[in-house]
Amino acid sequence: MYDFSALYEATSVSHAVQLMQEHPDAVLIAGGSDVLIKLREGKLAGAELISIYKLDELREVTIDPDGALRIGPMTSFSHATKSPVLQQYMPVLGEAADTAGGPQLRNVGTVGGNICNGVTSADTASTEVAYDAVLEITGANGVRKLSIHDFYKGPGKVALEKGELLTAILIPKESYENCYGYYIKYAMRNAMDIATIGCSVNVVLSADKQTIQRARIAYGVAGPVPMRARTAEAALAGQPVGEGAIEIVGREVLNDVNPRTSWRASADFRKQIISETARRGLRAAIERAGGVF
Ligand SMILES: Cc1cc2nc3c(=O)[nH]c(=O)nc-3n(C[C@H](O)[C@H](O)[C@H](O)COP(=O)(O)OP(=O)(O)OC[C@H]3O[C@@H](n4cnc5c(N)ncnc54)[C@H](O)[C@@H]3O)c2cc1C
Repeated sequence: MYDFSALYEATSVSHAVQLMQEHPDAVLIAGGSDVLIKLREGKLAGAELISIYKLDELREVTIDPDGALRIGPMTSFSHATKSPVLQQYMPVLGEAADTAGGPQLRNVGTVGGNICNGVTSADTASTEVAYDAVLEITGANGVRKLSIHDFYKGPGKVALEKGELLTAILIPKESYENCYGYYIKYAMRNAMDIATIGCSVNVVLSADKQTIQRARIAYGVAGPVPMRARTAEAALAGQPVGEGAIEIVGREVLNDVNPRTSWRASADFRKQIISETARRGLRAAIERAGGVF
């Protein structure tokens, strides 16, 4: 049984904002794959719900006039994987989405819910962090934009004020242009499991494919929130494509991370996986960009 006291269904973004003002303690529900579990466990017993499930305007991936990719937060994992726009410009996000849960979960879970829950293991989050996503947030005072780097405030805590909802995940053109990415989810089993470490790497190579112009690396579960490995990125900039770069990234990422020991894995084991996924992710991203080892 799901113990909730009322369900309000928004018919537009402005209606959702209005409902949030009228019911300030209500819980926003998108795909419901987190919220319904909390309801069933009694953690939100008696809550009022505001559903944004029917807002199809938030359920597509398009390109803004300035070239930014506009990913609607209600885009399900499955839709992200199948999106022609993402397949063309940022396939790594669809691939990351395809590692989440099982088929049923991927049909209901949304990319917006995946970051709004503030969870470090969220499979799409590290790729958005690695691509410097900008979040469009809408509330009673209008629309504001916030870098994803300022969004995570701590485990389970994000920078959404009461009465606000996420209305787009924007990927700036300079982040995805000529850029090739790769995501590795390391989990303790191949079947449905959350990440022990998630690693998203992307690179821009020089025109002759000999040099790394820019590398970006982000992790889930390497710290309390999804995070970038900036020391490693700085060490890679300008490096020739080759085994030397792989050695550098495997070593330098360890300066950036702060994994913890949990029942899933020890901190030391996670560090080993962090180093190895950086090595493998960088190699794969370089090869996708046309680099040859
Ligand atoms: C069986 C199972 C397996 C799972 N496996 C994985 C996995 O492998 N990898 C993974 O990353 N996750 C996994 N998850 C977690 C979950 O499915 C995802 O985090 C999902 O993306 C949440 O999206 P949702 O739309 O279902 O969120 P909901 O449950 O609807 O909402 C989650 C939270 O985000 C808020 N929210 C949602 N949308 C918005 C918005 N637009 N604006 C403001 N706040 C919003 C809600 O208020 C709520 O606090 C799993 C869950 C289950 C049940």
